[in-house]
Amino acid sequence: MNDYLQNSTLRTLLKTLNIPVPVPPLLKRNLGAYTDDELSGKKVVVAGKENEFLHELQHAFHPLVNAATIYDEKIDGLVVSCVGMQTIEDLEDLYTTVKNTVAKIAANGRVVMVTRSDDNTALSYAVQKSVDGFSRALSKEIGGKKGVTVNLLKITNTQVSVTAVANAAFFFLSDKSSFITGQVVELGNAYGTSFPSPAKLLQDKTAIVTGGARGIGAAAARVLAREGAKVIIIDVPSSKEDAQKLAQEIGADVLLEDITDAKATEDIQRYVINNYKGLDILVNNAGITRDKTIAKMNIDQWRGVLNVNLKAVINLTETFIRKGFNEHAKVVSLSSISGIAGNVGQTNYSLTKAGVIGFTKAVASGNNKIFANAVAPGFIETKMTENLPFFVKEGGRRLSTLKQGGLPEDVAELIGFLASPLSDGINGECVRVCGGSMIGA
Ligand code: NAD
Repeated sequence: MNDYLQNSTLRTLLKTLNIPVPVPPLLKRNLGAYTDDELSGKKVVVAGKENEFLHELQHAFHPLVNAATIYDEKIDGLVVSCVGMQTIEDLEDLYTTVKNTVAKIAANGRVVMVTRSDDNTALSYAVQKSVDGFSRALSKEIGGKKGVTVNLLKITNTQVSVTAVANAAFFFLSDKSSFITGQVVELGNAYGTSFPSPAKLLQDKTAIVTGGARGIGAAAARVLAREGAKVIIIDVPSSKEDAQKLAQEIGADVLLEDITDAKATEDIQRYVINNYKGLDILVNNAGITRDKTIAKMNIDQWRGVLNVNLKAVINLTETFIRKGFNEHAKVVSLSSISGIAGNVGQTNYSLTKAGVIGFTKAVASGNNKIFANAVAPGFIETKMTENLPFFVKEGGRRLSTLKQGGLPEDVAELIGFLASPLSDGINGECVRVCGGSMIGA
């Protein structure tokens, strides 16, 4: 990572000299394996609209956290249930809960809001929807100085269990989600799989990571292996050395394949079927950029990006849907905020990353008995972004709530969450990991 504003000597100097540069907060990250007491050291308040849902939510959190009240001096986490708020006046519960706690939230604290439209009057729908705006504004208001994150879990299906909500909140309250803020994540999926405990999250699972030799893919491979999965790293033959070194470190297999080759997908499918019981996790991570304005872009730059970033993603996923996926397999595909906002010089790239979001939604709703979600990173410090011009890099880093780029590990933790049963409520979504980037927000 080469963000000069993370350098401690320079940070101290800027502060001492009172130079008005927006120094980014230092983010607290927990990159260790999930444990059953992941959150037990955290003081968490679960508050909001008094009703049965709130009590069930408090009950679901009870064994996980060090329950606090709004009267505690410092709190690490705040879960605010807005479920059941139906009128404009009801929103005063939201105002009071947050107003009474916000100053007490510690550095790197986490706020998770929960909404659900219980009946379909226009008023109650508007009230629940209004919390989207509140949570986004709050994330900008309290995130920049202390690295506090604010995210909203929006229940779109009344059949979604409180356990599914608590499991998702578990991730957003943890220090594995430090670079995710200002997001509204929908929970619409009511069927869940079972898992023994967070400490055995991906035990006995088989996972593929394409482009796993370096960058975000390598970080994702490490997270999946850390949680107990057997990982198969796929990368191009020229990445052999990096891929084999990583494979040795995490006990993974390596398949040197260019995923755009016509026979690669079948080779990969055959390898999984012959060597394992089937595939549980597919991370479609391999991606390339060939940036040029459309007027200057040649057909190879157009085709190259479309073939790797979209065509190969669809081919590989559909090959395993036909044969090879185990029931309730999880597909996680890399999109980008460029696919949401568009970017100059990236018509080809933005097209593919928007296409990935569309494909993800289609697969999730296709009754394939598999989960599919996409991940949209903002500015992440990798080889792909290292060579960008200084001012483009600075814009990417600083035009965000957390005023810094993320690390491949931040994206990898989100991939790990979406590959795990903790995220069973979430299907067909695209979740941003962007530090609250203003781009496309
Ligand atoms: P990277 O260039 O560091 O790594 C990409 C990996 O994919 C490399 O190991 C490469 O060899 C492999 N790969 C490329 N073409 C391949 C092919 N045809 N077959 C097999 N493997 C192939 O990239 P990264 O920054 O780690 O990005 C990973 C993913 O995240 C990409 O899909 C990218 O578009 C997306 N993303 C990255 C950022 C960022 O800021 N770095 C932001 C948004 C989205």
